[in-house]
Amino acid sequence: MMTMTCMECVEKLQPFLDRELSNGERVEVERHLAVCGHCADSFRFEAGILHVVGRCGRTTFASEEFKARIRVVVQTAIADPK
Ligand SMILES: [Zn+2]
Repeated sequence: MMTMTCMECVEKLQPFLDRELSNGERVEVERHLAVCGHCADSFRFEAGILHVVGRCGRTTFASEEFKARIRVVVQTAIADPK
């Protein structure tokens, strides 16, 4: 079974962390994170931010801007693998 692409995974990180995904989607994200270091890094980064933000209660916290930033990080990582 194909895992999702990195872009699909990044799009789903936030709803994943917000527990807004279906069980099937969540499994797909977890499967991708298990095999993709780039997205796993993004996930840890985003989870860390949400952990901090979560202390102040639920907030949108510039989510579009934030997603755009993550997208750039992932695209850069894909274009220039270490
Ligand atoms: Zn990925």
